[in-house]
Amino acid sequence: MSRLLLRNFRERPDVAVSASGLRIRSADGREVIDGSGGAAVACLGHAHPVVLEAIRKQIETVCYVHTGFYVGEPVEALAEQLVGHEPGGLTHAYFVSSGSEGVEAALKLARQYALETGQPRREHVIGRRQSYHGNTLGALGAGGNQVRRPPYAPILPGASSHVSPCYPYREQRTDEDAAAYVQRLANELEAEFQRVGPDRVMAFIAEPVVGATLGCQPALPGYFRAVREICDRHGALLILDEVMCGLGRTGTLHAWEQEGVAPDIQVIAKGLGGGYQPIGGILVAGRIIAAIEAGSGLHRHGHTYAAHPVACAAALAVQQVIRDENLVEQVAIRGRQLEQALKRRLGQHPHVGDIRGRGLFWAMELVEDRETKRPFAPGIGMNGRVKLATFARGLACYPVGGTIDGVRGDHVLLAPPYIATEADIEAIVELMAAGIDDAVRALP
Ligand code: PLP
Repeated sequence: MSRLLLRNFRERPDVAVSASGLRIRSADGREVIDGSGGAAVACLGHAHPVVLEAIRKQIETVCYVHTGFYVGEPVEALAEQLVGHEPGGLTHAYFVSSGSEGVEAALKLARQYALETGQPRREHVIGRRQSYHGNTLGALGAGGNQVRRPPYAPILPGASSHVSPCYPYREQRTDEDAAAYVQRLANELEAEFQRVGPDRVMAFIAEPVVGATLGCQPALPGYFRAVREICDRHGALLILDEVMCGLGRTGTLHAWEQEGVAPDIQVIAKGLGGGYQPIGGILVAGRIIAAIEAGSGLHRHGHTYAAHPVACAAALAVQQVIRDENLVEQVAIRGRQLEQALKRRLGQHPHVGDIRGRGLFWAMELVEDRETKRPFAPGIGMNGRVKLATFARGLACYPVGGTIDGVRGDHVLLAPPYIATEADIEAIVELMAAGIDDAVRALP
């Protein structure tokens, strides 16, 4: 009997005994291609020698210090690496241990900014339905995940509400073009500000490319410009959650660069440390820091492992490799290959309703009927079946999904490491297609 608790009490995953590059080997000798980098984390693949050496060096010098006394050497360098050239006016970085902790820090900083600028009524966060910002209670409250939220709704703190996501496959009407759809979403957000009271809204939070709840869904052109304008007009902060889609994953270092707007606070995590160490963080606009510096001078927040030296050393090495090896450009090149191969191989598949994404961040929406977009019944768990079928063939893909207005969307997500070769991408797409076919054949 195992005494280990994992999310699923009934399933026991294989034991991984070694991993390098894109390949993970389990105790039974099986090798699997890591086509999703876990949950879009392993951006450099496994066992990158530069990162291993950086971690080793840091462990041998300073393993841990508390930020109340010291910072480790790589911490300042990591901040400099991320915001040294002030991308989009983001001038400061704060490091925690996960994406959820990053979202919590962002929400608390937004509230503190409101207080320090004499706006104590600002306490409400607007998020989007079908969004996920983490599993801690504050982050779960800000998100509109209709699968993970409901059991905890009574104990979620804070005032939040949710508007529609930008989800053209299911929610753009046939009688409206992209511009009209974006306008409708902007009108809905504006109406929500008016309903709540514009002077009560502290922040709007969204993912530039939605990962876990909508399957690699980018917004339509102009959507984030409209959102930015509404936030600015009402004095609310724009928090962009790039935990999954950030740090090169979509073919630019920050996903927001492709939207023509910058956030006030950006949350980062998965691609920051690439899974070599648990680390997340926030990048913050200069005007927020200036207001707090002029006020209390103190971020009323903190964690024992904030700015952990070993985590920061790993993240610094990961970010330097991404820069030195031009991996963001590589993501754009391999991403085009992945898009074309997926569309060529699965674009007409009767059970693949939509193929969407950016860079090396792509998902397929699985449907029972491609013509009517009818989803598989929730009990079928098609994304989980596809995961198991592709895993049996030697590919790890990430099943994601959620419920919206009673419609269940089954998605499987691919997020290969940025070091994937042309041959890796071809292999991933072939195994993905074969796995989907296996899963369809095995349907009851
Ligand atoms: N935000 C987004 C967009 C995510 O995808 C996730 C995790 O999948 C989180 C936040 C939470 O990150 P973590 O699981 O590291 O707490």
